[in-house]
Amino acid sequence: MTSQRDARYFDEHSDPVADRVAVALSKVGLAMKNAQLAQAQEGGLSATQQQILAIIAARGAQRPSAIAQRLGVTAATVSDSIKALCDKGLADRERDPDDARAQRVTLTTKGRRSAESAMGWPDFLVGAIDKLSADKQEAFLSGLVELIATLQREEKIPQSAMCVTCVHFQPWRHGASAPAPHHCGLVDAPMAHRHLRIDCAEHQPASAERAEAALGRLRDGPDATEKRSAR
Ligand code: SF4
Repeated sequence: MTSQRDARYFDEHSDPVADRVAVALSKVGLAMKNAQLAQAQEGGLSATQQQILAIIAARGAQRPSAIAQRLGVTAATVSDSIKALCDKGLADRERDPDDARAQRVTLTTKGRRSAESAMGWPDFLVGAIDKLSADKQEAFLSGLVELIATLQREEKIPQSAMCVTCVHFQPWRHGASAPAPHHCGLVDAPMAHRHLRIDCAEHQPASAERAEAALGRLRDGPDATEKRSAR
């Protein structure tokens, strides 16, 4: 008869949780990349061209430099992709009304149709996440917001238009016990964790210091200042 092991067995024979979360995220990332590539190939577009269409569809006409910054790729890569999109009749260049020397990229009607399909590519992932309970979805969103903000601060990924890096975001303004403890100063309304935006069209970047303080407060709670100074 074999004796049952106690709970310490897996404490002694498991990789750290952080390592396993990283492996899990890499598997999700691979699934997303495969789905994106399959869809791009179907439409005869590269993944970068597809992302450019999605950015312009979501945020309106963009300067090439802004697209390059958002995608975290070089200006030359974006320039080649924009030329290809224009050649395919999906995009057009126009003069930037704010600066006569600069150009912006817009979508043609055909490009907008193509962008709508490009923007739908994470649908399979939304369906899977939807199967999680509301509490788990909210916890997942909170964790990812903090993770993305940390990676952005370390310049490992491009900047996203997230609440935590926005000049309008006021974490915990309504107190930790409020159902919606945070506040968006732009629309002057309370926000709960579940309302945090990842890619907000109205986002205005906060200074690095302010974004760092907001991330610390969001992560550690309303008393973050005292907790951090005690470390
Ligand atoms: S403007 Fe957008 S990004 Fe900024 S705090 Fe409000 S909802 Fe968040």
